[in-house]
Amino acid sequence: MIKLFENGTHKNVFVNNLSTGQMVQANQHLIIHNGEGIILDPGGHKIYTKLFAMLSTEMKQNGLKHIFFSHQDPDIIAAANGWLMVTDAQAHLSGLWMRFIPHFGVDEMVVTRIKPIPDEGEIITLGGAPLMFLPAHFLHSSGNFHLYDPTSKILYTGDLGASLGNDYAFVEDFDSHIQYMEGFHRRYLATGKALRMWANTVRKLDIEMIAPQHGAMFPNRELANKFIDWAETLSCGVDLMGDCYPIPA
Ligand code: FE
Repeated sequence: MIKLFENGTHKNVFVNNLSTGQMVQANQHLIIHNGEGIILDPGGHKIYTKLFAMLSTEMKQNGLKHIFFSHQDPDIIAAANGWLMVTDAQAHLSGLWMRFIPHFGVDEMVVTRIKPIPDEGEIITLGGAPLMFLPAHFLHSSGNFHLYDPTSKILYTGDLGASLGNDYAFVEDFDSHIQYMEGFHRRYLATGKALRMWANTVRKLDIEMIAPQHGAMFPNRELANKFIDWAETLSCGVDLMGDCYPIPA
């Protein structure tokens, strides 16, 4: 577990080395406040056992109270049933995806513990501390949320800010980091309008760090702001397409 923040009652940690083989590298983030935990985008079946064992070193067995799914992709949600079966936690996912999740084989008796996040977002509490589910639709999923933690001032951005192929966990030089983000952002994100809306929104928050689900963190205010500035002007998705799709010959 790599530590991002800690004070007497609040702790933010993540693990980045559980993905193997053909799996896309993914970070699993954990926030703990007063002994209660939330896990973010916990991933699929192959990492579930290892991750669950690691959690027990950070908090007591029944301490996991919430599971946050930023969107519906398999690298995030495939092990939903396992997590719900072995904990009493509530899971949170965009209301858009509620009817799709049962296709992953979520048991009838636990499926009611998956709570729909409304399109406009919501605030929950963890051990008494607020956590904000911030709308970030179309970045890349059409029902997509980020998580802002006002205690640590960390903004968790899921697939936004993802980097692939770099071997470091914290960005140091923004310009040389762009090459690891550019391809993913241009193809997976829907439109630059969503990025501009996002930049306008998160500039109203007090952000010390941006923590994506893949690749490296933007570990301080300067680098977080550089990422916001970069994202705001990026063309992506339909911005880069012409008037019609190609017809394969
Ligand atoms: Fe995704």
